[in-house]
Amino acid sequence: MTKISELIDYLHLIAPNHLQEEYDNSGLIVGNEHDDISSVLISLDCTEQVVDEAIAMGANLIVSHHPIVFRGLKRFTGKNYIQRVVAKAIKNDIALFSIHTNLDNVAMDGVNGKICEVLEIENTRILKNKNEDSQIGAGMIGEISPMDVMNFLDHVKQKMRLKVIKHTSLCKQKIAKVAVCGGSGSFLLQDAIKAGADVFITSDFKYHEFFDAEDTIIIMDIGHFESERFTIDLLYALISNKFANFAAHCTKVDTNPVKYF
Ligand SMILES: [Zn+2]
Repeated sequence: MTKISELIDYLHLIAPNHLQEEYDNSGLIVGNEHDDISSVLISLDCTEQVVDEAIAMGANLIVSHHPIVFRGLKRFTGKNYIQRVVAKAIKNDIALFSIHTNLDNVAMDGVNGKICEVLEIENTRILKNKNEDSQIGAGMIGEISPMDVMNFLDHVKQKMRLKVIKHTSLCKQKIAKVAVCGGSGSFLLQDAIKAGADVFITSDFKYHEFFDAEDTIIIMDIGHFESERFTIDLLYALISNKFANFAAHCTKVDTNPVKYF
């Protein structure tokens, strides 16, 4: 049997817990690390439906990218989804582990490396380094074989399985240098411009922030869930390649709270 702690130690070799941002709450949130793993369910978000799915399949560990709890909880009366998820997990003996901004901040086997792989972006490097280590930091930048901008929009839409792309004016005819950041990446816009990116693919840009593109770069806002959906596959591959004595499953629940009409 494999203990929860063994899986955690392995994932922390790839993305050490101390690399998480201050506001984050990655790590083991519910459960006992000395318990054996029956099977693992992997998701982007840990919703009630995901906990129900784990119960139905007999998985006693959920590995999610986003932590269910960010701040202190004072009451457990089931008044909101966070309390209900925690209570349901405890009642059903399901451990909840998250690997969030620490997985965003590593070049190797991280969230942004996976996006680059899916979009066939090569010669990648971290966009904004956190420290001396070139392998650690936020966002990623790299190159694609030059592509007409309309073809590039199609390419991103198809590879990332998008219904819609919000973008600023198509000020570049050819796209060759691409910056990416899974999740909310608007804080990296100036870094993407400085690095000479033709386009910056991320999510959660606010209306006024789109103006900052200033016809020097194309911002493509592809949606938060959509930008990170392949993180599920990334975690699945890491876990199932390493551990053979328990099953890993990707969630079938669409946890994206944003719908399109
Ligand atoms: Zn995210």
